Amino acid sequence: MPFTLHGLAVSQGIAIGHVHLVSHALLEVSHYQVAPRRLADEVARLAAAVDMVRADLGELKTTADQQPGHAEVGALVDLHLMFLDDPMLIDAARQLIEARRCNAEWALVQQMELLVEQFDQIEDAYLRERKADVVQLVERLVKVLLGHPGRLPKKRKSDLATIVVAHDLSPADTIGFRDHAIAGFVTDVGGPTSHTAIVARSQGIPAVVALHNVRHLVHDNELIIIDGTRGVVIIDPDDRIVEEYTLRQTELALVQSKLQRLKDTRATTLDGEEVKLLANIELPKDALAAKAVGADGVGLFRTEFLFLSRDALPDEDEQFEAYRRVLKKMGDAPVTIRTLDVGADKALDSIGKRSTEANPALGMRAIRYSLSEPKVFLTQLRALLRASHYGKLKILLPMLAHAHEMDQSLALIAQAKVQLIERKQKFDPRVEVGGMIEVPAAALSLGMFIRRLQFLSIGTNDLIQYALAIDRTDEAVAHLYDPLHPAVLKLIGGTIQTGLRYGVPVSVCGEMAGDVAYTRLLLGMGLRQFSMQATQMLSVKQEILRADLVDLAPKVQRILKMDEQERVHEAVERLRS
Ligand code: PEP
Ligand code: MG
Repeated sequence: MPFTLHGLAVSQGIAIGHVHLVSHALLEVSHYQVAPRRLADEVARLAAAVDMVRADLGELKTTADQQPGHAEVGALVDLHLMFLDDPMLIDAARQLIEARRCNAEWALVQQMELLVEQFDQIEDAYLRERKADVVQLVERLVKVLLGHPGRLPKKRKSDLATIVVAHDLSPADTIGFRDHAIAGFVTDVGGPTSHTAIVARSQGIPAVVALHNVRHLVHDNELIIIDGTRGVVIIDPDDRIVEEYTLRQTELALVQSKLQRLKDTRATTLDGEEVKLLANIELPKDALAAKAVGADGVGLFRTEFLFLSRDALPDEDEQFEAYRRVLKKMGDAPVTIRTLDVGADKALDSIGKRSTEANPALGMRAIRYSLSEPKVFLTQLRALLRASHYGKLKILLPMLAHAHEMDQSLALIAQAKVQLIERKQKFDPRVEVGGMIEVPAAALSLGMFIRRLQFLSIGTNDLIQYALAIDRTDEAVAHLYDPLHPAVLKLIGGTIQTGLRYGVPVSVCGEMAGDVAYTRLLLGMGLRQFSMQATQMLSVKQEILRADLVDLAPKVQRILKMDEQERVHEAVERLRS
């Protein structure tokens, strides 16, 4: 019997395929009784998992020790090995199996929770944070016990498409889609501008999130349809429904192929204003997609994706090669590369800094993290500067709020340049440095940014999150995420206008830039540089080609003065009619 679920539509398109359930090891642990005669086997099962994890960690340690600059990774592995030997974890779990006649994974999780509670009471912040290491280690062990240390299916060739269904997917998981034949994804949780949703859009993979308990309503291999435009998921559809959606899929493909004709057309408004359309990319190979839609350059390279989901940080040479690849692919076009924006929902496995903060989005994120780890930051800056020799590279600093963050970053850039001069390595001495405006405090104190930086880029995803105090990854408050809130428009409009007044280029690189619903509004505010996922660029270009600024500008000025949300919504909708 087919049935339908409704969630948040976060990435457009239609996918028809078979369910692949992705596990979240710690959420999957069930509790069951073990017969007395099987208890020894259960204890042996735990011991075998411990041995396997110990061997994995040992290998990791050897790799870390052989790579210069990875002392931190080595230290982290040592810590995990130490917990593995701690009687409070494994021995206690073994005793629990015997005393309660329970399964090994459940015993481990019980013991982990006990330890986490104890860690929470420690005053020293550093030691308190180590509870994250215990959780990571137990998750590793549980995955081995459950028999699925890997998470995604291998690339299949001719099968019907695979649709990933999960409780939640980290950005690192979604980036892993690239190496697998995934046609879409569906999750219990998530919001429209979570990084997971962004990655799905960048891949052109339809996605629906915030379905609450979809994982428990579907079976592995079941047929499923995702309508990423309407936020609908149909489970076990009959032939008639499949036929209808196949038809829609074909229609969508036709629209896309028509749009492709605009690839080489310049993005010029009806009254002759030229607009630059830049691409957001997550990995160097995305530059190909940017080229394929005729992007004027890269407006945002989110470098953190080079750092996610790996056991050790990429070293200077690896980063340099990655940045240079993008520059080479983009030829003379500008390439704006953002320094590491980790933290919040993009935790780094390799340095064990998985967040244990109560409010990670307000915590050690982005520039704050880089400034707290100057060695990691300097390594990235040297790699960026070296790559600047091969094209038109610009450095973009994320999540700035304070003058001293810019001063320290600029000082570190200067230091990186001196180091390269000493090494006789080439770089562009005039490389431009810009900043993201994604904290309301920054949008309200632009003078200090303009005095220090050469360009600005508005990150509307975070700007909205911080202005409206809603976690962008939390589906429970997703309905409050409103790009058209009058306060948000004042922050965006004010930044664009200030940039124009002082001759400092301003772009928008948040998801608003790639949504045709906002193209005319942003144009009317004075925006002339949009940076978005390549998959959205041609639709936005079509909207620009149909826009008349003489008509738009005064209407948008009136919208900026409105202070009733509903009136703003109506007026923005009218801009398109
Ligand atoms: C933003 O916040 O709008 C942005 C572009 O950065 P990210 O989505 O990577 O946080
Ligand atoms: Mg951001």
